[in-house]
Amino acid sequence: MATINPFRSALAQLERAASFITVAPGTLAQLRTPKRTVQVAVPVRMDDGTTRVFDGYRVQYNDARGPFKGGIRYHPDANLDEVKALAFWMAMKCAVADIPFGGGKGGIRVDPKKLSVGELERLTRSYTRLLKDVIGSRRDVPAPDVYTTPQIMAWIVDEYAKIMGHTDLAVVTGKPLALGGSLGRETATGDGGFIIFEELAKKLKLKPKDTRVVVQGLGNVGYYLALRMHDAGYRVVGLSDSKGGIWDKQGLGMNPREVLQWKKKTGTVVGFPDTKSITNEKLLELPCNVLVPSALENQLTGKNAKRVKASVILEMANGPTTPDADDIFRKKKVVVIPDILANAGGVTVSYFEWAQNLQGVSWTEDVVRKQLQEKMTVAFNEIWKTAEQHATDLRTAAFIVAVQRIATAMELRATA
Ligand code: NAD
Repeated sequence: MATINPFRSALAQLERAASFITVAPGTLAQLRTPKRTVQVAVPVRMDDGTTRVFDGYRVQYNDARGPFKGGIRYHPDANLDEVKALAFWMAMKCAVADIPFGGGKGGIRVDPKKLSVGELERLTRSYTRLLKDVIGSRRDVPAPDVYTTPQIMAWIVDEYAKIMGHTDLAVVTGKPLALGGSLGRETATGDGGFIIFEELAKKLKLKPKDTRVVVQGLGNVGYYLALRMHDAGYRVVGLSDSKGGIWDKQGLGMNPREVLQWKKKTGTVVGFPDTKSITNEKLLELPCNVLVPSALENQLTGKNAKRVKASVILEMANGPTTPDADDIFRKKKVVVIPDILANAGGVTVSYFEWAQNLQGVSWTEDVVRKQLQEKMTVAFNEIWKTAEQHATDLRTAAFIVAVQRIATAMELRATA
């Protein structure tokens, strides 16, 4: 199967939204391409004394509304088009959440599971040195993404401090609590997705006990989302990780806490008692009401979209649905809550972390939660209203809102 280029999908989303509104041609031309693309060769001294070189990227897509902002991904399949797409989605997401950031993203093509802790640290420090001139709390603020962690952010803070001669905690977000991290950041993306889902559930009058949920990917995002769903009484009947999936055929629902314990003990969710093992492909097609892709992009495509049984898709991963799958979902009247809205909770609390660091203050968890609730609810309602106004789907509406906000900032600044 030809691989799907996520940047091409991102541009198709842009063009669709732009067809509903008036955007100056020069502005649209700038939105079709990143402002700056940095490609680096990251040398790492391995434990055996040899040196290996990994491909690294940082794409700075748009900074009309504030510093570039976006995570860093360590993944064996990371590539420039993927990072460009993710950077574009970050720009759109920050605009949807209405926070003062643009969009960027970073990645290293590496399998971090095959590195020792020391190698991982040297990789991170090496990458930071190569990007020292383009990142910074007022320029470009990275954060964790797939297979990067608060510890990795702490190494970036330290390496950057060594280069600059002073510590700037706001250079990255998603840091450990003891090093300028924010309360509520770890759970933020799942929390935000759940807030958005609850708003939709009110509109669609969904009852938790009658609602079966399948979550693909039990990582940071998928775990907390599944947990919030379970704790609110929804029935989590399917879960998966990179090694495979599990299905609770009885439909009563699993407790994600117990599944995570099992995963910690055995290395995978597969084999969790009283469940049926299932492939990741089949997991997406399980009978359920809500499907939550929380792993990687291009999971729902023109090939499998017809077989998806859920009537609501909550996109917690970035770019899980390709444009041809979107067309099918539109025809089937499946409600897709787009990634740039559904998973914006993470970057919203990252913004809170950055703001706290710059002011030298720390907020209580209660304040973080309340502010997140407010931001997410406003964003949902704005997009719902826009979808109604333009008689379109939520993804197109989210892009309409984002493009309008970014275009307005660009035109005010006259960035041509
Ligand atoms: P993570 O590394 O914590 O977890 C990723 C999970 O996906 C792991 O459980 C892994 O086993 C699973 N996985 C990998 N390949 C899979 C496959 N083919 N099928 C099923 N599961 C698979 O990453 P994360 O931070 O939870 O990020 C997940 C997604 O959410 C990514 O698309 C990321 O860009 C997006 N996202 C993350 C955040 C955040 O705050 N962490 C914010 C917004 C969006």
